[in-house]
Amino acid sequence: MNCKVCKFGGTSMADGNVILRAAEIVQAESERRYVVVSAPGKRFSGDIKVTDLLYALYDAYEAKDMAQFEALYAKISVRFLNIEREIGKELNVQAALDEAKEQILGGAGKDYCVSRGEFITAHIVAAVLGVPFVDATEFVRFDEHGLLKEETFTLAKQVLSTYDRAVVPGFYGLGFDGKVKTFSRGGGDISGAIVARGVMASLYENWTDVSGFYACDPRIVNSPKCMSELSYAELRELSYMGANVLHSESIFPVRSAGIPIRICNTFRPEDRGTYIVTAAKRNLGDSVVTGIAGKKGFTSITIEKSMMNSEIGFVQKVLSVIGKHGISFEHLPSGIDTMSLVIDNEFLKNGILDVLVSEMKEAVHPDKIYTHEDIALIATVGHGMAKNVGTSARLFKALSESGVNVNMIDQGSSELNIIVGVEAKDCESCIRAIYHEFFN
Ligand code: ASP
Repeated sequence: MNCKVCKFGGTSMADGNVILRAAEIVQAESERRYVVVSAPGKRFSGDIKVTDLLYALYDAYEAKDMAQFEALYAKISVRFLNIEREIGKELNVQAALDEAKEQILGGAGKDYCVSRGEFITAHIVAAVLGVPFVDATEFVRFDEHGLLKEETFTLAKQVLSTYDRAVVPGFYGLGFDGKVKTFSRGGGDISGAIVARGVMASLYENWTDVSGFYACDPRIVNSPKCMSELSYAELRELSYMGANVLHSESIFPVRSAGIPIRICNTFRPEDRGTYIVTAAKRNLGDSVVTGIAGKKGFTSITIEKSMMNSEIGFVQKVLSVIGKHGISFEHLPSGIDTMSLVIDNEFLKNGILDVLVSEMKEAVHPDKIYTHEDIALIATVGHGMAKNVGTSARLFKALSESGVNVNMIDQGSSELNIIVGVEAKDCESCIRAIYHEFFN
């Protein structure tokens, strides 16, 4: 029998009524046998996700601010007890909350604390569906660097094959030290993909609060086009660059097994959604561009030096400066006498940018070195771009006509994307200009 894995995000778990809706979706098809859940997310704008409350709870615990700890614990308890009340069934939520509190106060650690949102939610959903709960620590394994271990997939297969149906909490697994370890934020999507690969699902359904993947952020362009199909590679580029429908790492477990992902809407389950597949079908008349995404918060360091290209080891010396500080770069566009490094601002806190610049001066004696500290990167993505002459000309003409100044250009060698760096204040107008050029 075909088997589908359904992963429900935070908005699909936000309260008891939405959880009941999600349960109806699962029960509507007998193939939907494995369910992965996030912790309850926002119920309305301005609401706080349970995971954020749990992070704050741990901060209060670490700061030994017990009044704040108790206030947050009470808030989290109310969220879960309301869910139990709305579902109208005895779900042992209080006992699970008490156990979590005892463990946190006993030093179980931050990742344990923030993973309890998913843990308790999965217990609730398992009870609603009448299906076994299987803890993610039984098969999701991380190494000492916090990276997912390959054995996760064999373990997932072994463990899950003993269950005909199961509910699994997303977002965490077991670290090399035997303690609970979480993925990065939004990592429940990766858990869903691991389960899909473990059971060799025919489809990985990712249930969220939008009816698919839009060509760009609907907060920037009114009603952008919803894509019917995307390739794994296009999805990875777009989600890495800020399209936050799906975690950018969630394609890895399913891509190698060729398991398609469907992005669908818990609040409009009848909508087709977007399918993510190896080779996305494009219809005649479709845009050569699949989507546009942008992310703020980068800095570029540009180095100019005559005859740079003939100086052996030049780039290596520059990279060893950032490597020494444990910093990675996003892009490295270069010309004959110039190169730029684009770095995430997260790495450059506490004056480290000045340190890098002075160490680079020492390492390569540039003619000129300068920085742009507040840039946004905008990726225009689409397999169709490589085959169509004039795509970049159209893109840059659109940007110049709308008065956006481009600081940096980087075209991936796969010709799947063109990335431009612009001042952060121009991020939205840049996305709008590209969208209108290629989709209107
Ligand atoms: N609950 C976690 C978060 O808010 C993980 C997830 O939802 O995927 O980041």
